[in-house]
Amino acid sequence: MSDTYDDQNIFAKILRGEIPSFKVYEDDDTLCFMDIMPRTEGHCLVIPKTPCRNILDATPEQLAACMKTVNTVANAAKRAFDADGITLFQFNEGAGGQEVFHLHFHIHPRHDGVAIRPPGKMGDMDQIKANAAKIVAELPA
Ligand code: 5GP
Repeated sequence: MSDTYDDQNIFAKILRGEIPSFKVYEDDDTLCFMDIMPRTEGHCLVIPKTPCRNILDATPEQLAACMKTVNTVANAAKRAFDADGITLFQFNEGAGGQEVFHLHFHIHPRHDGVAIRPPGKMGDMDQIKANAAKIVAELPA
């Protein structure tokens, strides 16, 4: 297994606009978009715009930029879904559960007593698009 960055990974293609995504938020250093196999309503992903595989090769600057965006989007998503809490997931290398090798943070709005769904089931695109709009509507002006 290579531990170098592969610029053909799916999130690199999203960053280059080669494949579509439902964008939630963007700044100079980060992008947030919806996960297409959502495990919660509002499941979205925050990534740095610059290349790195995961937490193991990320720079302090990349991590700080991602965390700033996680903070912004997590609060918006909590409001958008009237959530009771937020769960962050972040996986590193295959053994750590990582499938896409561009650093990303999963944001999951959570409700008391509602379990997170299993991974790997494609979501309904209209629903995902509508959920993106709900989060966008709650972002700070
Ligand atoms: P991880 O690498 O942390 O295990 O998760 C990768 C995530 O990327 C999964 O939650 C999966 O649903 C999501 N994903 C995989 N392919 C695509 C895609 O083409 N577009 C989007 N928006 N998400 C994807």
